[in-house]
Amino acid sequence: MRRAGQVVAEMHAETRAAAAPGVTTAELDAVARAVLERRGATSNFLGYHGFPAVICTSPNGMIVHGIPGPYRLEEGDILSIDCGAIIEGYHGDAAFTMGIGRISAEAQKLIEVTERSLWAGIEQMHKGNGLHEVGRAVQDVAEAAGFSVVREYVGHAIGTAMHEQPQVPNYWPGTRGPTLKTGMVFAVEPMVNAGSAETEMLDDGWSVVTADGRLSAHFEHTIAVTDDGPEVFTLP
Ligand code: MG
Ligand code: MG
Repeated sequence: MRRAGQVVAEMHAETRAAAAPGVTTAELDAVARAVLERRGATSNFLGYHGFPAVICTSPNGMIVHGIPGPYRLEEGDILSIDCGAIIEGYHGDAAFTMGIGRISAEAQKLIEVTERSLWAGIEQMHKGNGLHEVGRAVQDVAEAAGFSVVREYVGHAIGTAMHEQPQVPNYWPGTRGPTLKTGMVFAVEPMVNAGSAETEMLDDGWSVVTADGRLSAHFEHTIAVTDDGPEVFTLP
């Protein structure tokens, strides 16, 4: 899983470097495919319930699961890129949101707060802690900044499949959840909206957008619980 995580980190670095005004999201998918090929990794996204690409690209008011295609990035956009890889049957999964050129102050704040909320969640990933402390920490950071946390889509355990049980809510669901133990691995992935938490699905059956059309950001890492605390597999 460490090796799969490093392939995902490389997909992040290369798609981030390529994302600029005038570039299409399909071109970013090609950049990510080249990383998988070079590293001898396979894609856990391609073919997942029929998904046609190796990354998800979700601009502006799109929250997650956007399909790479002809959309051409513009100065001032924000773009969420979600990447995954499989090495020898083990999965990695991580996402980030970036600005394209100069972005608004609100967009910048949303990106910073969402990334900070992920790290607040990761800090809770110590053995003996309740899994739902992760979501509580995420929610605290996001809501203190005046933003809202998506409820319908959540993080997940990960291992020999991308999506394993249990789920990892990005909010406090009212119970402490399963007790964290050394060796458990989770993909923690806050989706934070500038406006309301409500979501809608577009007609393509994949793209999830904010119901109010306002911006959304998404950060994700694959993290193991170890005796020494959380280990983030998808950091370079
Ligand atoms: Mg992901
Ligand atoms: Mg995930």
